[in-house]
Amino acid sequence: MKYISTRDYKRHSLVTSAEAIKKGIAPDGGLFMPCEIPTININDIEMLTALPYHERASFILSKFLDDYDAKGLLEDCKKAYSEDRFPGGAAPVVKLDDGRYTLELWHGPTCAFKDMALQIMPRLLSRALSMTGETKRAHILVATSGDTGKAALEGYKDVPGIDITVFYPVDGVSPMQKLQMTTQTGDNVNVCAVNGNFDDAQSGVKRIFADRDAIALANSKGSFFSSANSINWGRLAPQIVYYVSAYCDLVKRGDIRRGDYINFCVPTGNFGNILAGFIAKKMGLPVNRLICASNSNCVLTEFLRCGVYDRNREFFKTMSPSMDILISSNLERLLYIASGAEETRGYMEKLAKDGRYKVSEETFRTITKEFSGYFADESETSEYIAKTFKENDYLIDTHTAVAVCCLDKYRNETGDKTPAVVVSTASPYKFARDVAAALGSAPESDEPAALLSHLSSITGTSAPRPLSETVGRPVRFSRVVDPADMISAVFPD
Ligand SMILES: *Cc1c(COP(=O)(O)O)cnc(C)c1O
Repeated sequence: MKYISTRDYKRHSLVTSAEAIKKGIAPDGGLFMPCEIPTININDIEMLTALPYHERASFILSKFLDDYDAKGLLEDCKKAYSEDRFPGGAAPVVKLDDGRYTLELWHGPTCAFKDMALQIMPRLLSRALSMTGETKRAHILVATSGDTGKAALEGYKDVPGIDITVFYPVDGVSPMQKLQMTTQTGDNVNVCAVNGNFDDAQSGVKRIFADRDAIALANSKGSFFSSANSINWGRLAPQIVYYVSAYCDLVKRGDIRRGDYINFCVPTGNFGNILAGFIAKKMGLPVNRLICASNSNCVLTEFLRCGVYDRNREFFKTMSPSMDILISSNLERLLYIASGAEETRGYMEKLAKDGRYKVSEETFRTITKEFSGYFADESETSEYIAKTFKENDYLIDTHTAVAVCCLDKYRNETGDKTPAVVVSTASPYKFARDVAAALGSAPESDEPAALLSHLSSITGTSAPRPLSETVGRPVRFSRVVDPADMISAVFPD
């Protein structure tokens, strides 16, 4: 199967999946997409229902990555989604009440859904390097506002042929996020704080990617720079798996019958997670509607309501920070599926120039046949944390609360009572301060250990081990650099 850029209407840039994963972004600035979407049928679903998660994963992935050795893929999936890394299962489905479920994607090493992709993607990249005859080491550079950096560190640590450096804004991450990164283990990892905010760290990384001296320096060390960005196909493909897996689990437990339709409601930032759900539907999974849930940064809600994407708006810092995004990069892949490469290229040019575009009537109709958009503001988010805990005895984080609220809004507005799965993207303990405050008991201390034990004592639940074990680990990385000196942290000697 070949991959093509979402902007390549002349079909110039066909590459293999290994090349797409190694390159990350297409030369014309577009994102790689498979030329056609492979399918699964109802017999495949029956077969997958009997299998453990890692075998479901290797079955789905091998349909997209058909240039990879199938045995190798199975091995990678087995390691990535082992009980050791995902205690209690990679993507368990939990019943809230009749017709409402959550898909918990936060049982991995960093307690957020990015682990689902970042535990396997480094292995896919490592294989892509040897499949394409690459002799240099890849040096991954990441600028993070919190979650992605830690998930990337856990995924890339000790992966052969790859090194990783993560930069975070010195005062821009939570105390727990900082501790998670500065105590990171592994021989090929490096973490450094940047004097400045997230944008300073991000621009610094982009500068290094484009800086000839930095590229030459990397070359002299036998390396080349690469990114772990969420637009890489190697991060998207593994996310398709858990949509199929959730469906199989519902069938397996007798909550639905094989062939029944279900809805998914997804807390959305960069549009990567929900797009994977759409691709699962395109493969043949019986999905009725995809509900795109946003926080107060509701650029996608507006897009799905009126067909206009407009990033020229106030930016809000919310209690669901991983959804505080005004440019949802993966939306480009949906535009490509709905309207083709030529139209997509036009929209992306308008976005770069004016910060806004309006899609054609036909494209708007195609998209809104599949997707609905809702948003929850800060007080609704808190309200749903409290309400879900009280009514369902179930503790959710701030991102998941946005989605539970949006699902209610969708059901009230449309009357659609199709069984619905809310995709749950983070452990409540990752956002313990805001979750406790929503339950009416704001913690006094901002210190990580105190936050965990406070939430535990007011809810009678316990913190996931990866978080409780972080507290008390030795700090390995304490360096702080100015944005102009970031390269000195990449190659310290
Ligand atoms: C990254 C993230 C999201 C948003 O996912 P996208 O793929 O960017 O839409 C939602 N919740 C959490 C906890 C995240 O870390």
